[in-house]
Amino acid sequence: MTDYSKYSFWLETSGDDLTPRPALAHSIDVDVVILGAGYTGLWTAYYLLKTNPALRVAVVEKEIAGFGASGRNGGWCSSKFPVTPAMLERRYGRDAARALMLAMNDSVDEVARVCQEESIDAHFHKGGILTLARGEHHLPMLRSAVDAYLRLGLGQQYRLCSAGEAQERVRVTNICGALYASENASLHPARLVRGLARAIEKHGGVIYERTEVTDFEGGPSPRLLTPSGEVRARQAVVLAGESYLTRLAKLHRAVLPVYSLITLTEPLTAAQWAQIGWQNRESLASCNYTVDYLTRTADGRILFGSRGAPYRLGSKISDGQDRHAATHARIQQLVLEWFPMLEGVKFTHAWGGPVGMPRDWMPMTEFDPAMKIATARGYTGQGVSTTNLTGRVLAELISGKRTALSQLAVAQRRSPNWEREPLRWLAVRYMQNAFLRIDEAGKQGRPKPKDAALAEFLGRH
Ligand SMILES: Cc1cc2nc3c(=O)[nH]c(=O)nc-3n(C[C@H](O)[C@H](O)[C@H](O)COP(=O)(O)OP(=O)(O)OC[C@H]3O[C@@H](n4cnc5c(N)ncnc54)[C@H](O)[C@@H]3O)c2cc1C
Repeated sequence: MTDYSKYSFWLETSGDDLTPRPALAHSIDVDVVILGAGYTGLWTAYYLLKTNPALRVAVVEKEIAGFGASGRNGGWCSSKFPVTPAMLERRYGRDAARALMLAMNDSVDEVARVCQEESIDAHFHKGGILTLARGEHHLPMLRSAVDAYLRLGLGQQYRLCSAGEAQERVRVTNICGALYASENASLHPARLVRGLARAIEKHGGVIYERTEVTDFEGGPSPRLLTPSGEVRARQAVVLAGESYLTRLAKLHRAVLPVYSLITLTEPLTAAQWAQIGWQNRESLASCNYTVDYLTRTADGRILFGSRGAPYRLGSKISDGQDRHAATHARIQQLVLEWFPMLEGVKFTHAWGGPVGMPRDWMPMTEFDPAMKIATARGYTGQGVSTTNLTGRVLAELISGKRTALSQLAVAQRRSPNWEREPLRWLAVRYMQNAFLRIDEAGKQGRPKPKDAALAEFLGRH
C-alpha cells in the first residue's frame, strides 16, 4: 500500500487518516461526476452541493484526495492571479482586469469563511505578501507592478517599502526595497484539501479513491471511463486534474507540467526567529524568474520553494521528479544566502510537484452545455485561492444560476494547446535555461544575457 504521507510535509502533518477511501466497484449514474480530488474538483463539488443539496455528485480520484499539487504546495492563499494585472488590463481592459482582481481578493476571504463554517483548521493566517527586491535591478519591476495596481484603483492594498522598512519586517540579505500586498494568507494546504473532502462527504458527495479515469466522453450522456466501470452523469462531467490531465490522450497538450520544488527547515528556535524577525508571517517572494516563494509555517519552520527542475520530454510526470538533487541543493543554498544566520540549520523535508502552465498563461474555466463537459485548469502555480474562484464559477456555469462571477475574464474561455514534441521540449528547456541565466546575471550585477529580450518576450506569449 502506498504511503501517501511521504509525498509532502503537509500530507504527513495533515492530521487526517490517509487510508484510501473505497474505489469505484462498478458503473454508476450520478448528476455530476468530477475527475480529481484536488482543490478544483472539491471546490466545484462543494459549491454544487451547497446550491443543490439533492444533487448526486461523485468525485473520482486516481490516488487520494490531496495527492496532487493541492497537498504539496507552498501554502500561499493569495489574491495574486497567474497573469499580472498589467497583462490582464492589456488583454481584457481595465474594468475586466479590476473585476478579476477584486474577485481574487474575495476568494482569499471565502477560503477563510468556508474553513470557519466547515470547521477546517487550515492554519489560515492573513499576513500579506512581501515581494523583495534583492538588487537594484529588481526595483523597476516592483514600481511597474504598483503602477498597474494604481491604474486599476487597487492602490490601497499595495505599498512600496524602503529597504529599511522591509528589513524591519524580515532580515533577509541584499534587500533594496519591497512591495507589500495585504490580501494574502498562508495556510496548511493538506489540512485544507483533506478538510474539504470531509466537508463534501458531509454534504452528500461521494469520493472514490484509487480509481483512475482512463478516458472521458461528452454528449447527451457524458461519462468518465475507469477500469472498474463508467460513471455516467446526467448534468456534467468535470475535468479537474490540472497537470495530470496531460496523461489523458485527448488532453495531452492542454497544459504543460513544470515542477516546482520545496525544501523545509527544522523548526527554528526562538533565538533564531529573534534574529530573523518575520513576526507577521508574511509570504515572501523574490523577483526572480525562477519564482522563489517562502512561507513561515505555523510550527516555526521556513519553507523555501523554487522552480528550475528540468521539463521532461513528452510532459512526463512521475514520482521520481518530485526530488531533483541539483535543484533541491540550489534551494537549500538559497536559504543560507537569504538567512546567513541559519548556517548549520537542518533541512528535514524535500518534495515537489507539477504545476500546470497553460499556453497563454491564463487559467480557464469552461462548461460546454452541448457536450456537458466542464473544466478548470492552468493555474501556473497560483491555484490555492484561484481554484476557489474557478470552483464557484464552474458550479454556476453547470447549475445555470449565473451571477457576475460567470462574466469574469476567466470564465468560458479556452487556452490554446501546447506545441507538439520535440518542439515543446526544446522551447521549454531553452526558456528554463534562459531564465536561470537572467537571474544569475542580475545576482552577479552583470548585464542581462544577449537573448534576454527574446526569452522575456516568449515568456509573455
Ligand atoms: C510545489 C508546488 C507549490 C505550489 N505553491 C503554491 C502556492 O504557494 N500558492 C498557490 O496558490 N499555488 C501553489 N501551487 C499550485 C497549486 O497547488 C495548484 O494550482 C492547485 O493545487 C491545483 O489544484 P487542482 O485541484 O486543480 O489540481 P491537483 O491538486 O493537482 O489535483 C488534481 C487531482 O486529479 C487527480 N487526477 C488526475 N488525473 C486523474 C485521472 N486520470 N483519474 C483520476 N484522478 C486523476 C490527481 O491525482 C490529483 O489528485 C503550487 C504547486 C506545487 C506543485
